[in-house]
Amino acid sequence: VRKIQRNGPQTLIEVEQPFALKAPRTDVMLVTPWLAPIIWEGSFDQKLLDATYKPLNFTIGMTLFAVAKYTRFLKPFLESAEKHFMQGYRVNYYIFTDIPEQVPRVELKPGRSVVVFNTVKYSRWQEISLRRMEIINKHIMNKSIREVDYLYCLDVDLIFTNHYGAETFAPLVAVLHPGYFNILRNKFPYERRPESQAYVPKDHGHFYYIAAMFGGTLNNIVDVTAACHQALQVDKVNGIEAAWQEESHLNKYLVTNMPHKIPSMEYLCNSEAPTPASVKVCRFSTVKKNHAEIRAQ
Ligand code: UDP
Ligand code: MN
Repeated sequence: VRKIQRNGPQTLIEVEQPFALKAPRTDVMLVTPWLAPIIWEGSFDQKLLDATYKPLNFTIGMTLFAVAKYTRFLKPFLESAEKHFMQGYRVNYYIFTDIPEQVPRVELKPGRSVVVFNTVKYSRWQEISLRRMEIINKHIMNKSIREVDYLYCLDVDLIFTNHYGAETFAPLVAVLHPGYFNILRNKFPYERRPESQAYVPKDHGHFYYIAAMFGGTLNNIVDVTAACHQALQVDKVNGIEAAWQEESHLNKYLVTNMPHKIPSMEYLCNSEAPTPASVKVCRFSTVKKNHAEIRAQ
């Protein structure tokens, strides 16, 4: 794994002057109590970030699962990613599917590629979703994936709708869940049964994160997927399934392994709910789906 350098821009670029006594936004939390930035429109300078990171010639990986009927989401997902996701960076899309012939041919910009992996179809949709932890963990040292500098693990039933870029680079990244950003933690939908490995007591935790997107450097993705996979296996042996499957285990992990950057709900907008006032830009949005139809065998 290549060591990630953090240089400043190689050349002088013009940016607006930041002032230590002036918060760029006062309506939202910009930094957590453990000093991780929460990413909001207005809190970062895209030009400065790109001038810093583009010279490093990073490769960004993305894992995407499109099993059974979910292959239908690939085309809009990839087309929108080509417009908005990591523009100007090298990007490898790692697509895990049981129907490789349904992976659409989408025109990709230079330096971007699709790699298809065969995967099996588990009978329950919950299992398809939760097994991603195990499958990502098992493939991560594949010679293609191990070359990437940052890996993003995303749901496929989403589309990019605006800029999504270098501001999200960090060792471990998790996104605020659009449904639970403004409620007391004792109301978070954490797993509450102590018998489960995903158990979180009522007075613990900081934010509730959505499992549809997490990311970071390979070492960190190895750790988080291994921990979740192991916890899922222990639960299985004990005949218990956490309330929100891998999302519950991810959240449990993040209670003690706090993320280094937290993209706000801008990075996972629920298209079926009103947009919160704090969200000025939706960058990545859910696609409406008929749950009964798409999950039927
Ligand atoms: N998935 C899949 N085929 C399925 C069920 C799930 O490929 O039959 C994958 C797909 O990547 C999907 C993710 O697992 O985005 C999570 O499932 P889903 O999006 O249905 O969960 P939700 O976001 O509704 O909680
Ligand atoms: Mn989803």
